[in-house]
Amino acid sequence: MSIERTRNFSIIAHIDHGKTTLSDRLLEATQTITQRQQQDQLLDSMDLERERGITIKAHPVCMNYKAKDGLIYKLNLLDTPGHVDFSYEVSRSLAACEGALLLVDASQGVEAQTVANLNLALQQNLHVIPVINKIDLPNADVDKVKKQLEEILQLPADEAVSASAKMGIGIIDILEAIVAFVPAPKEPGDGYLRASVFDSIFDPYRGVISYIRVMSGSIVRGQKVRLMASGNDSEIKEVGTFRPKMVACDKLEAGDVGYIIANVKTTADVKIGDTLTESRKPAPEPLPGFKEIHPLVFSGIYPISTDDFEALKLAVGKLQINDAAFTFMAESSAALGFGFRCGFLGLLHMEIVQERLRREFNMDVISTYPSVIYELRKTDGTEILVDNPSFLPSANEIDEIREPIVKVFIMIPNEYIGDIMQLVMDKRGQVNNTETLDDRRVLLHTVIPLNEILVDFNDKLKSLTRGYGSMDYEHAGYKADDLVKMDMLIAGEPVDAFSCIVHRGKAEARGRQLAAKLKEVIPQQLFVVAIQAAIGGKVIARESISALRKDVTAKCYGGDISRKRKLLEKQKEGKKRMKSIGRVNIPQEAFIEVLKTN
Ligand code: GDP
Repeated sequence: MSIERTRNFSIIAHIDHGKTTLSDRLLEATQTITQRQQQDQLLDSMDLERERGITIKAHPVCMNYKAKDGLIYKLNLLDTPGHVDFSYEVSRSLAACEGALLLVDASQGVEAQTVANLNLALQQNLHVIPVINKIDLPNADVDKVKKQLEEILQLPADEAVSASAKMGIGIIDILEAIVAFVPAPKEPGDGYLRASVFDSIFDPYRGVISYIRVMSGSIVRGQKVRLMASGNDSEIKEVGTFRPKMVACDKLEAGDVGYIIANVKTTADVKIGDTLTESRKPAPEPLPGFKEIHPLVFSGIYPISTDDFEALKLAVGKLQINDAAFTFMAESSAALGFGFRCGFLGLLHMEIVQERLRREFNMDVISTYPSVIYELRKTDGTEILVDNPSFLPSANEIDEIREPIVKVFIMIPNEYIGDIMQLVMDKRGQVNNTETLDDRRVLLHTVIPLNEILVDFNDKLKSLTRGYGSMDYEHAGYKADDLVKMDMLIAGEPVDAFSCIVHRGKAEARGRQLAAKLKEVIPQQLFVVAIQAAIGGKVIARESISALRKDVTAKCYGGDISRKRKLLEKQKEGKKRMKSIGRVNIPQEAFIEVLKTN
């Protein structure tokens, strides 16, 4: 099919606005899938993704559509992950398109995520077609959404298509709008192969499968190709398209979206955003936009039972083959034993990996408090990166610590402005701009340290606004601040798993909170146990656990030796699950409890 009749597009939407339902409808209307197959929404293939209503991996699909002009068009739908952790992947998928449908729920209106994703699409110069979905709902307000489209997003509302993905209304209008408004791909026509890799997955039987968009030239089986950023050469074993399952074909040409299988070992060898070219005749320059992605959030992952270390090692290795953005390195902790320091794109990515370890690999793990990556200048002038508070040099060796900060866009109903501004201040953030969206809502432009929004910011936002607030963020570099390492000492011994980097102004409150929590979970010992939070050598919070006086066997009367033995046995067993920190035995559960709740 000629390039003039190819349309590459994606759908951008806030979670739950109906992207998956609409995608299925488009596949059905173009007879790409039957209604029966559609039952289990094909585009979302991982259970976890479906439960969380997000798509982690972009699954493209190729449809043939006979338009009202009588011609058949090839429509490639590229799905995009719907979360800020994966915004680089989103930008690479969007770069492989010429247009996008911006889907807005007619009863909810424009949300923070819609704004952020629209910005990404506009940065790629995509033609954006607004689609107002769920018009079947009794509280749908199409006029209001149209007004928002114009006022907030500066999109022409008269081009908006009204639809109900659920009821199948407006589906043909959407397909016609794609044909009419999304520009056909353009080829430079200089004879060089340039294909952009926008995702890759690992299939245990077939190896690495890379999803590509051909920008110029063509790609066939047997061809020798090179990834320009990594410099790796390989040979193409198979090329094909998604209909929606993978179907091999002879050749992918300029404008096409499809997959390739080459002799590559892991997804880490195929970097997202890299340019594929011919080894024999490489393109003079790669496609723009490639970035190395680096993890931003780190956490230690340890097996609950030390016997499971080897199994955990196998599991994280397997996960990484499929998820090049996830990193791990062996580390050991005095408190938790042997485990791994793992790096993630963000908190959601971290939760997904932990959950997959539990579900797919049956691993019982404990993870340490998440930390961001800090930039550090030492007094001798050297610069280092620190992702684990335990490795922070001592205070007198540190000249400056910089922490990552993010621009956070917060959309809230007017009445909550005061509460949310307070929340932003509490999180050491600042509100730079308050934008009025309509008579009900405002958009706050804020800057907050990433560390502060890691754990409970979104939950707090939701609870303070009764679920009406939404947020999105983008990275905004590093900023120096008065950051210090706080240690927790139990009976005088520092416990590495509880060390953290905090702002000096918040250290005392956090130290108190942690000490109180530890007091709750550490059982009494035969002596008084001091729990201290300290910065450098200075104690800033303190609790103590009084000594246990009772003899465990005291309850046994007479000479019931078997009963006595049983009790002692039990006590021994209890000990096995204890970690001894100096003279103090701390049950494993205490670590879990504290790391979970603080
Ligand atoms: P996604 O998170 O954007 O992929 O959203 P889904 O496609 O999973 O849809 C979220 C929810 O909205 C589901 O319960 C759908 O059944 C429902 N939904 C999607 N489209 C419509 C629609 O046009 N009308 C109504 N009433 N519900 C819809």
